[in-house]
Amino acid sequence: MTETAESPVLNEWLEEVRKASGRLDLDYIAHAYRFSEQAHREQQRQSGEVYLTHPMAVALELASLRLDTTTVAAGLLHDILEDTQVTEDQLTEEFGPAVTFLVESVTKISRLEFQSREEAQAENFRKMLISTARDLRVILIKLADRLHNMRTLEHLNRKRSERIAQETLDIYVPLAHRFGINRIKTELEDLAFSVLHPDAYIELTATLERDKRMKMKALGGVRKTIQKEFKEGGVKAQIAWRLKSYYSIWSKMDRRHVGLDEVFDIMALRILTGDKAQCYHALGIVHSLFVPITERFKDFIANPKSNMYQSIHTTVIGANGEPVEIQIRTREMHRVAEEGIAAHWKYKSGKADDRGSSWDVHVKWVREVIDLHSEDTDAREFLEHLKLELFQNEVFLLTPQGDLLRLPNGATPLDFAFAVHTAVGMHCQGAKVNGRIVPLDRKLKSGDTVEIITRSKQNPNQSWLMIVKTAKARSAIKRYLREEQSEQSIRLGQDLLEREMKKGSHKIPGREEMTDIAQSFGFSSRASLYEAIGRGSFNSIQVVEKLFPPPEEQEDLGEGFIQRLVERARSTVKGVSVQGEGNMMINFARCCQPIPGDGIIGYITRGRGVTVHRSDCANLLGSADKEERLVEVSWDTEKDQSFLVGIKIEARDRANLLADIGRAISSGNANIQAANIDARGGDAEGRFIIEVKNLQHLQKVKKSLERVKGVDRVERIFGGIDER
Ligand code: MN
Repeated sequence: MTETAESPVLNEWLEEVRKASGRLDLDYIAHAYRFSEQAHREQQRQSGEVYLTHPMAVALELASLRLDTTTVAAGLLHDILEDTQVTEDQLTEEFGPAVTFLVESVTKISRLEFQSREEAQAENFRKMLISTARDLRVILIKLADRLHNMRTLEHLNRKRSERIAQETLDIYVPLAHRFGINRIKTELEDLAFSVLHPDAYIELTATLERDKRMKMKALGGVRKTIQKEFKEGGVKAQIAWRLKSYYSIWSKMDRRHVGLDEVFDIMALRILTGDKAQCYHALGIVHSLFVPITERFKDFIANPKSNMYQSIHTTVIGANGEPVEIQIRTREMHRVAEEGIAAHWKYKSGKADDRGSSWDVHVKWVREVIDLHSEDTDAREFLEHLKLELFQNEVFLLTPQGDLLRLPNGATPLDFAFAVHTAVGMHCQGAKVNGRIVPLDRKLKSGDTVEIITRSKQNPNQSWLMIVKTAKARSAIKRYLREEQSEQSIRLGQDLLEREMKKGSHKIPGREEMTDIAQSFGFSSRASLYEAIGRGSFNSIQVVEKLFPPPEEQEDLGEGFIQRLVERARSTVKGVSVQGEGNMMINFARCCQPIPGDGIIGYITRGRGVTVHRSDCANLLGSADKEERLVEVSWDTEKDQSFLVGIKIEARDRANLLADIGRAISSGNANIQAANIDARGGDAEGRFIIEVKNLQHLQKVKKSLERVKGVDRVERIFGGIDER
């Protein structure tokens, strides 16, 4: 911050702020002023004025609503993030998180304004503004901002000012009304009216100006009579004129197709008293002086409107027979009527960091409204207010084209993609939120603009189910995964079965025979048999054995499996040579079940030739007498020969496990010769016979298996025999 001498403009403006509200931290506000002045120094308003005049006007309006220092400072800084080089970090450093939060939120809303939008979306936008503004001061700043922009609309071209005026009527006027800020609501309406219907506006204001004197004369008599009686009756009250807003007169005429002379309440008398008792006292006097029109009497003191408006409305017949509307309320009620929620602001301190209480105040206010209306007739308005709290469970989001989507709180870009269109969701590859790439599981916030990046090759996967929040996305993903899994399982199952047959050198049966076989196992079709095999819920070996019954009964599955492995492995070699000699009497140790590829060593037995062990077999170690009888042996193999090994996989069972295991094995260029998966509870144990080139190759396959999701352990198996 550059320290400049106090400028007369600043001093003058600060004086106005002080007059508007006496409880502000003016040093802090002056600091915000200088910071804003510096940041906006290069800019001008459309009118040619220095840009700072705009934030100054906005901040002053906020001060006159008697908001706190934080809000007034944020008003001065509200365009900084949108229009200058100043960053959020710089702002936080200078003014702390409270001011920065307000400015950021206002900026978010401002970005929406340059989207074209449909009339039908206006209500959604209003809701979005409310839900975006977790802190209601954001809406108040936005209203003050809009008010000043509307006041200076004449500097814009016609088309643009009409668009802004329409948007004001669609969005900001109802907002101001909902929050009871009548003063701003009325001015916004009249300004928008003058832009959108300039001819009607000119005609109406001219007519009213002419009629006003006449009306005032008529009302003047009534006023004098009342004033005199008040003095005698001891009622202390001010009596003022109240002129209905141009826009509301015009819309009344427009709605009811009536002329100006048929609108009774263009002018009214307004009586302001010190307390409620005096209001009713005053009412009694008025009714004793003039005859009231009963059906036009409304007591909004006993039954406040849902935006907290309180007043007594009565229409009486004046001396010349003309109807005169009279409004009676306390000065405090008047303030609430003009400033709405802003009047309910609880002032905590003059300090800039008192953001915490704001939401409580709002919630309390909403609750008060609900309580007051528990027996009220105006159900529609009551519901509107109730919705305020319901919005907290929803987020309002924008497409890059400015379309609005409403999703449940906690929704992610993936939900957004599915909400846009199922096809967009299915191919969602990434997302940008407010122009930045974000992870797909990012929780979206109201007001975020979300852009989905798609790629035709991208498809849903299992992990998406953890990310999505909406039922629509979830069911679309599930449907896809189900279909995909079944297709994959069918392919894999067929593959496994055909390998199993080839391995036994069996001829693969034709379709019809396969259908028969499938049905004999209780499956409806070949495909469902393949699918069951692919999923691992049915063993392909069963099918093979049924088609090609083995010569003798197999033992139980586990041992038979290993036995077959060992036999098959050995059948691929000619034998074992002992110290270069073939044709020796050898047998294989049952303790370690060596198979080709293993490092081996021979042990000279008494009378049974050489027993071949794995070189790391525990039974051979540690005994000097044994070591003397060890002899070097080697497998009698041919080049490029491959070996069969057994592996056992322990995993947590899940859909598609077998498919993924199969893929891991074949991606390592190893062939599956037999597979068996046994699932109990949540655990699965798979035994596979695979064909590898050498032990190094096996290590590689093991590594890739260990990377399969759900796989806990991969180990090579030799045999269930343990005869140590
Ligand atoms: Mn602005």
